[in-house]
Amino acid sequence: MAEIKEHIVMFPFMAQGHIIPFLALAQQLEQKKGCTITLINTPFNIKKLSSSLPPNTTIRLLEIPFKSSDHGLPSDAENTNSLSYHLILKLFQASLSLKPSFRNLMHGLVHERNGLRRPVCMITDIFFGWTIEIAHEFGMSHAVFSTVGGFGMACYYSLCLHLPHLKAKSGEYEFTLPDFPEAKKFHISQLSESLKLSNGTDPFSVFVHKAFNECMKTDGMVINTVEELDKTGLMYLRKIFKLPVWAVGPLLLSSGNGTKRAGKEFGLAQEALKNWLDSKPPRSVLYISFGSQNTVSKSQMMQLAMALESSGKNFIWVVRPPLEYDVDSEFKEKEWFPEGFVQRIKAQNKGLIVEKWAPQVEILSHKATSAFLSHCGWNSVIESLVHGVPLLGWPMASEQFFNVKYLVEQVGVCVEVARGKSCEVQKENIVAKLESVMNETEKGKQMRRKASEAKEIIRDAMKDEEGYKGCSTKALEDFLTAAAMSYRVEENSGLK
Ligand code: UDP
Repeated sequence: MAEIKEHIVMFPFMAQGHIIPFLALAQQLEQKKGCTITLINTPFNIKKLSSSLPPNTTIRLLEIPFKSSDHGLPSDAENTNSLSYHLILKLFQASLSLKPSFRNLMHGLVHERNGLRRPVCMITDIFFGWTIEIAHEFGMSHAVFSTVGGFGMACYYSLCLHLPHLKAKSGEYEFTLPDFPEAKKFHISQLSESLKLSNGTDPFSVFVHKAFNECMKTDGMVINTVEELDKTGLMYLRKIFKLPVWAVGPLLLSSGNGTKRAGKEFGLAQEALKNWLDSKPPRSVLYISFGSQNTVSKSQMMQLAMALESSGKNFIWVVRPPLEYDVDSEFKEKEWFPEGFVQRIKAQNKGLIVEKWAPQVEILSHKATSAFLSHCGWNSVIESLVHGVPLLGWPMASEQFFNVKYLVEQVGVCVEVARGKSCEVQKENIVAKLESVMNETEKGKQMRRKASEAKEIIRDAMKDEEGYKGCSTKALEDFLTAAAMSYRVEENSGLK
C-alpha cells in the first residue's frame, strides 16, 4: 500500500496515561506512514514533550493557551500526575475552557500557508468530545482515540450511559450491563468510589457522561488494543458505538517513554536500576507501580511492605505518597513503612524503592522481571503483556476494575490481589497471591504460559512484512484510508 502522507491533528487529555499513547500513535503515523503530525497540548506539557522527543522527529508541537491558576489549580498544574486526587476533577472541568482557543488554532492550521498540507483528520481524546463539531466545521474527519482497551472501555461506556437505570437496589451487590447480558456478573465493588456513592450524579460522572455522549458523533474510534487479544471487548464496543473501531495497538514509544526525566528524579539513577536488575536471576523480581496518578492508603502500604518482606521476593516498588499525604509530600519512610523496613531491604539487597516515577517499560522488558503488581491502567497492562509478564491486579479507579475482570476471566494472565483504595488488605493474603504467580506452582506456570501467548498475539499484530501484515498494522492502514476518503468527500462537497 502506498504511504498516505496526510496531515493529522492530535490532542490528548493532560495525563501521562493519555499523552504517552498519543505520542506513540503520532510516532507510528509519522514513521510508518509518513504523515505530518501536529500534536496539541497546554504549555507545560508541550515544554516537557519538546525536551523528550527524538531529535529527528517531524512531529510538530503546538501550544494551546491555558493558565491553571485561572481555574483554582496550582500554577503550572497542567497534568494529573502533579495533582492530588481531589484536584484532578478541576483539571477535567478546566479542560472545557479550551474550546475557543482550540477553534482558533484549527482556523490557523487550516489557513496556514507554510507548505504543509491542510489537516484531513483530527484525533482527540475520549474526554474531548467537544472537538468533534470543530473538526467537522473545518471539514476534517474526526476520530476519538481510546487509550483504554476494548473491554474496559465498553463496560465503562455502557455503565455511564445506563447509570440512571442501574440504580442499585439496596442489598443487591451484583449486576449485569444491559448492552452485554452474556458477560459474567459485575460486582458493586467494581465501581469506582464516586460512581458507587453517587449513582452517577457526582461531578466527575456527569463530566464523563457528557463527554461520552458527545463522542457518539465522531466518525470512528482508534483504540490502543489488539483485535485478537480483545475480541469480546471490541465486539461489545462496536455494539454500543455503531461506528468503525480500529484496534491499532500496542502503541509503544520507540525510544523510552517520551517522559524521560533526570536520573535523580527517579530517586535512583537509571543506570543503577539497570545494574541492579542485571544482578538478579531471570524472572525473580516483582515490579510494583500504581501508575501516574493513583496511590494506596497508608495502612495498605504498610501491609504491602510487610508482605514483600515476608515473601522474601526481590522487588522494585515505585512509591507515590499514600492517600493521606499531599502528592508532593517529601518521602517519609518512618511514617509510611514498618520500622527499619527500608534499611533492611537495602542491607539484604532485596528491593529497590523508587520515588514517584520509574522507567517502567525498561523494567518490564528486563529478563529479571517476573510479575507486575499493577493498578491495571491499560497502558501498564499492554506494556506488561507485550513483554509476556503476568499481572497481579489491584484496580483503583475508573475502568481498571473491568480490565482486571477481563484479564482474570478471559485472558488468564492476572490474579486480583485487592480492589480499591479503601479495602482492607492483609499481608498473608498478598503473600499467598504473590507466591501463586511467582513460584513454580501450577497456577504460576499456567499464567506465564498465557502471558507468553498474549505476547505472541501482540507481536504478530504489529508485523508489517513482505506478504504479511498483522491485524493492528492493517487496522492502522484502514483507518488512514477512511480518514483520507472522508476528507475528500468533504472537499468535493465544497466545504473546503
Ligand atoms: N509510567 C512510567 N513510570 C511510572 C509510572 C507510570 O513510565 O513510574 C508510565 C507507564 O509506563 C504508562 C503510563 O505511565 O505508560 C501510565 O499509564 P496507565 O494507563 O498504566 O495508568 P494511569 O497513570 O493512566 O492511571
